[in-house]
Amino acid sequence: MDNRIEKLSQKDIKAILRAADSIIAQGGRSLLSKILKGSKDKKVLQLELDTCPMYGYFKSEKLDDIMKKVDWMIDHDFLDVEYFGKLPMIVYTERGWQIESDQYADELIDEWREWVKEGEPVPDMTYLKDRDRGMILLMLKKIKESGDRAFLPFLEAWEKVDYKKVRAEIKEVIHAMEQQEGIDGQASQEREVLLKEALEGSAPEDLRLKCWECGERFMFTVGERKFYKQKGFSLPKRCEDCRRSDGRAGWYL
Ligand SMILES: [Zn+2]
Repeated sequence: MDNRIEKLSQKDIKAILRAADSIIAQGGRSLLSKILKGSKDKKVLQLELDTCPMYGYFKSEKLDDIMKKVDWMIDHDFLDVEYFGKLPMIVYTERGWQIESDQYADELIDEWREWVKEGEPVPDMTYLKDRDRGMILLMLKKIKESGDRAFLPFLEAWEKVDYKKVRAEIKEVIHAMEQQEGIDGQASQEREVLLKEALEGSAPEDLRLKCWECGERFMFTVGERKFYKQKGFSLPKRCEDCRRSDGRAGWYL
């Protein structure tokens, strides 16, 4: 009964990455699946995961099927599993984070747009402090590219409360907007291309690894990789023969 998923749509990939943001390094595959299912599980409610924008995104699907999608994300290097103590937790791969940080930055900017439209007062901007630095700098780039001067009051308030390095960046964006400098369309185009590549990505492949004990090459298949990744194991260091000849070692070491 091989009912593997062929390929997830870019929309689904983004949704799963967005949902993962709420539990990164705090929850595993099953908790992530429950968010997407819109489960009323105790832990989901306790962690207020029902406020995640992707809560219930796959609500009409079975939890098992959602879990398969999550595993597809792991197989295809969008997400990874890492152990924190004894618990396997979902983390982003570089590729997954590239996509997530981009859509998260957009989400934060859309929120500003909404506030401007509704004439909301500038909020306490410390809410942006201590976010991932790369994502914040990307957000600032996008704000600069928007050239939208309605954002100036937010930037000015934000500049007062953030750390030095971010402050310097905010200042530069404010300056560029006041001078109405030309927008660097090329940078944003390049970013779009990279993002598209990350989303399309490539299918997982067999790996040829080198055994650190006997020096022989050995195959590590896609199937084995899949299993290792879901369990949060790192790549095996030794070939099967060496692993077997050592009674002490577990099969996965
Ligand atoms: Zn060996």
